[in-house]
Amino acid sequence: MSTFESLGLAPKLLDAVKAAGYTTPTPIQIKAIPPVLEGRDVMGLAQTGTGKTAAFGLPLIHRLMADHDKRAPKTARALILAPTRELVNQIAETLLVYVKGTHIKITKVVGGVSLNRQAEAMSRGTDILVATPGRLIDLMDRGAVRLDAATFLVLDEADHMLDMGFIHALRRIAPKLGSPRQTMLFSATMPKDMEEIAAAYLSNPVRIQVAPPGKAADKITQGLHWAKGKEHKTELLKDYLGDAPDGLALVFARTKHGAEKLMKHLVSEGFDAVSIHGNKSQGQRERALAAFRAGTARVLVATDVAARGIDIPGVSHVYNFDLPEVAENYVHRIGRTARAGADGDAIAFVSGEEIGLLRQIEKTMKIEIPVLGGTRPTEVDPPKRQGRGGGGGGGGQRRGPKKPANAQSKPQGQGQGQKRRRPRRRNAA
Ligand code: AMP
Repeated sequence: MSTFESLGLAPKLLDAVKAAGYTTPTPIQIKAIPPVLEGRDVMGLAQTGTGKTAAFGLPLIHRLMADHDKRAPKTARALILAPTRELVNQIAETLLVYVKGTHIKITKVVGGVSLNRQAEAMSRGTDILVATPGRLIDLMDRGAVRLDAATFLVLDEADHMLDMGFIHALRRIAPKLGSPRQTMLFSATMPKDMEEIAAAYLSNPVRIQVAPPGKAADKITQGLHWAKGKEHKTELLKDYLGDAPDGLALVFARTKHGAEKLMKHLVSEGFDAVSIHGNKSQGQRERALAAFRAGTARVLVATDVAARGIDIPGVSHVYNFDLPEVAENYVHRIGRTARAGADGDAIAFVSGEEIGLLRQIEKTMKIEIPVLGGTRPTEVDPPKRQGRGGGGGGGGQRRGPKKPANAQSKPQGQGQGQKRRRPRRRNAA
């Protein structure tokens, strides 16, 4: 059996790993740490929750410790790019644990907080810069950050960054880095664009895979509940939340407005709910996450963009109040539960307009999600989305043309996989 000692990490890092409470390396750590220590480029297919931050972070720190380059003003020796502020914060926090007792400095750069303060933080240079691409480019444009001394590049959750103009950002950032450069790319899925990025920015990478793409962690129990519409979903959610009062529940809504409205309704009904989405300030997001992490807020309502990569070990339930429009996001969403070896439930509420999305999700995951309750609604076309903003659900939804009558309703309980872990009273509303 592999141990951290056998992977070749420096004694100080072994102490840090022990202090973090890790006893054995995870599969991605076993596969990634040795080649990264050797200086190889790595392409890792892995979800968060697999221990991938340590998989690239520990050997990266080891290598930075081994050469004692001085930090020059405004420079970084390693750059880690991640799609969201929350993920950047999380990576930086995790790395801070590993660098304790070393001279390695970590600096983070994210949108939503003062540019001047970040420019100031970079003025004396850093060892590891963790950044979102947009804010990094702002600071580069101002001359506050130089990347020519950075000879390590990590692209984390790269598939998420793709939706955010990442290819364009990378085209601006990568040529500014030092050479030769060691590059590590981690992604939970491998869409075609990712292969192109790998071909353009990685050199003869070691390919590592720890879970087949699209396969959710085995410890997540999935289920779906048919819903008649938004109001029915809200009733169902309250019902489910009431059934599991102890854990933390992460609820995904499609729009910022919808997330906010749902959170306010839950609060008005006595639930300790908070929300994070793109309309919240950095301070509000951080407070909401802190309350959720501490368990003072039991329910976090979030949109996809705000929730990526969140690692909160106590999340026992993920509710897909609205199904994601991109099937792969379903995998990321449900991966927010069953962290660090725990079990988790992932429950989706599916309305007639979402049956098409459900089919895509089931196809991507190569599974049939068991039905927990409700009556299968008639399939209807989803409403046309407006170009910007999107409605928050509720009023104004266009009912698409009805599917032919053969899209019959299945009564509750019919069909496959009635694997419920516990009986649920679930016929109300
Ligand atoms: P990540 O995939 O990097 O987001 O890590 C998921 C969680 O697993 C984090 O809470 C880590 O602190 C934890 N973790 C990482 N490596 C190990 C390990 N070898 N043993 C136990 N927990 C770990």
